[in-house]
Amino acid sequence: WYQCTDKAIRWIDGRLVRMEIAVDITEHKDLERLKDEMVSAVSHEMRTPLTAMLGFTEFMLENEVPREEQQTYLGTMQRETLRLNELIGNFLDLQRLNARRQSFVFAPLAMEDVIGEAVALFQTASEKHHLVIDCPTGLPKVHGDGAQLYHVLTNLISNAIKYSPYGGTVTIGARHEEEMVIVRVRDEGIGIPTEELERVFERFYRVDNTDRRTIGGTGLGLSLVREIIHAHQGRAWVESKPGKGSSFYIALPVAAKETAESAPSSTA
Ligand code: ADP
Repeated sequence: WYQCTDKAIRWIDGRLVRMEIAVDITEHKDLERLKDEMVSAVSHEMRTPLTAMLGFTEFMLENEVPREEQQTYLGTMQRETLRLNELIGNFLDLQRLNARRQSFVFAPLAMEDVIGEAVALFQTASEKHHLVIDCPTGLPKVHGDGAQLYHVLTNLISNAIKYSPYGGTVTIGARHEEEMVIVRVRDEGIGIPTEELERVFERFYRVDNTDRRTIGGTGLGLSLVREIIHAHQGRAWVESKPGKGSSFYIALPVAAKETAESAPSSTA
């Protein structure tokens, strides 16, 4: 895309030449299109949780609802609020990343702490799934931005829950391998067909089959996960068996000081 910003008439090689000055606005156009796509996807997706919350609050205000029932309704409202919060968070973050205005604050970070916080968010909201943490002690710290990595983990755990049947176990594990800390979020859910494994990280991409049509989403979460992990010089990938479950992995570089400390002494 080019936009004409100025016009001029000049003598060049004895001829009168009419010139137009154009600037490349491809990036600007891409951003504009992305913004339009995002606004329509997000506003569509916001309707479902908002309708649920509105319905439940109206019902509770207009009826004498027994205490146990109230708990159930409040639980649903909490889940829907979380979903809305995640949706808006993804939207804003992707927009900032695209406008290159997202600033990262890197520091040595204990991944087991970030995992603990992310799991705590879902522990009360998802009593229908078992959440298990499987981290060894003594993991080296990674070079990372805590808030961003928390966001990555909440996206992965939220998907693991969303695409699994009730009663399924979601295991969040971590291990140290070749100067990287590898975190795995494993579920026993519907899985992803092999030919779609790479595509799920694309912006707005959602695997299309009947099961998924009933599960809401924008296809933004995993693209954000990958962009954040790439900004950490890390890697994000998935392994999956349809009908058996999926494992999402993120690999993050160990913090520099940790590398030096954990390296064997060269004077031995
Ligand atoms: P959303 O969940 O909002 O659709 P994501 O970018 O988080 O967007 O995921 C993209 C697609 O990848 C989803 O629509 C779904 O088809 C698939 N997917 C993501 N996580 C899982 C998972 N744990 N199990 C099965 N499919 C998944």
